[in-house]
Amino acid sequence: MSDPYLLPPTAAASIADHQAWIGGDAVRLARTLTPRALIERIDASGLRRRDSGGTRVASRWASFAANDDQTGPRHLVVDATDIEPGSFADRALLRTNALGVMEGLAIAARALGASSAHLALRSTFAVEHAIVHEAMADAESAGWLDDVKITIHRTSDHYVLSDERALLEALEGREPLPVRLAPELDGLFSRPGRRDVGPPTLPDPANPTIVEGLETLASLGPILMRGTQWFRSMGTVLSPGHILCTVTGDVAAHAVGEAELGRRLMDVIDTIGGGFLPRTPPKAVLNGLSSPVLTRSRLGAPLAWEGLGGVGAAVAKAAFIVCGEHCDMAAVATAVARYLYVESCGLCPACKFGGGEVAAYLDKLGAGAGTAADIDADRPPRVVDRDATVRHCGPPPRRRVVDPSRLPRRRERRARGRGATRAVDPPTHRRSPRRSGGDRRRADASASRLGARRSADSAQPLVRPALNPRSDPDVEPERVAPSP
Ligand code: SF4
Repeated sequence: MSDPYLLPPTAAASIADHQAWIGGDAVRLARTLTPRALIERIDASGLRRRDSGGTRVASRWASFAANDDQTGPRHLVVDATDIEPGSFADRALLRTNALGVMEGLAIAARALGASSAHLALRSTFAVEHAIVHEAMADAESAGWLDDVKITIHRTSDHYVLSDERALLEALEGREPLPVRLAPELDGLFSRPGRRDVGPPTLPDPANPTIVEGLETLASLGPILMRGTQWFRSMGTVLSPGHILCTVTGDVAAHAVGEAELGRRLMDVIDTIGGGFLPRTPPKAVLNGLSSPVLTRSRLGAPLAWEGLGGVGAAVAKAAFIVCGEHCDMAAVATAVARYLYVESCGLCPACKFGGGEVAAYLDKLGAGAGTAADIDADRPPRVVDRDATVRHCGPPPRRRVVDPSRLPRRRERRARGRGATRAVDPPTHRRSPRRSGGDRRRADASASRLGARRSADSAQPLVRPALNPRSDPDVEPERVAPSP
């Protein structure tokens, strides 16, 4: 594999060390270019966002920069929440390359015409907060932040923060609900004071805002200093560069690693995780909770947007939770369903009610109380038909709860007694943490009727607590004084 450019072997002790590693002063170079020329360079590199869609970074930035219709100051929001279960990539990047992130932030702010940047960090990331403050001080003394004011925010760990609009609400100190228009149209602090939940309207000024991830920012300095051809020499034509992958579950070592895009997914997971446990290809791999499950037959696909997209999977956050040969997939599905039920914010009744019923249904099967009718049905009859109802975030929901084509091994069914199980379609849409008022009571009552465990405390996180610490649910904005 080509040399890493996201995770240095050791964290740079100074700006000089960082510049020696990437090959020069990328911020100074960026200041010699116009914003338009900067975006063209990024476009030439083919850099894509590290998310499910893998949108070209420059396409978004070009349309954001060209949109003069929206008034008000422009904001750059940096999502460092590591909110996807199973992901540790943001924390690994900050711990080893915080200066690269600051450098990328200064470059991105120039390209986008943003006068302020907002870094969203979970309140439980104590180590990262200290690192970011130190890196900010270094960046200020180097003059990188002369044109951009940075504010660091402490956020909760609600899953709905993976939705950009919910993240903006949280940064403004409100409940993390995706109730506003897209950030480019309804940006940060576009309306003073609180709003009731209702149909959003176009604010004036709009304060256009764009949300970017840490990997995008950390890639900018190396692209500017080493050139777009260097970047395109790695990965594939459609998916150039490297990606950070987190590997947990049934592997020898839980780790974050930098992988070249285009490599066989199975090899990437095996290498970063130090080998599968037991030493056989896993039964399945979860890629966070918002992507389709990667079954064994899909693991031979290339780790690239076109590669995983070709087998009905997604790159998403590359947070791979390995389920080895002896893993009980029905228990995994139950835990995922319960987590999503608890994390559902309750804005869309179908998401909350349906999620609760799915969790209760799987609980029933897991407890050995399932019947033949439960197993043979395409789906449990009481589950809400979520296809027909409104959703405010994430991709369209899955209709089917039980997929008859994915029968479990016979001995697994026997081991679970009368409550025989079938593999369950992964819940594929994002839901989040907050439950509110009447929706919560109705959802709880619904779940209770079906025998679900109602308390949020009953949610069993899929990942080790160290990787997904529960935190204070309240958002604590921490306004860090910018450079004068
Ligand atoms: S789909 Fe679920 S998580 Fe998303 S806004 Fe609706 S209720 Fe909230």
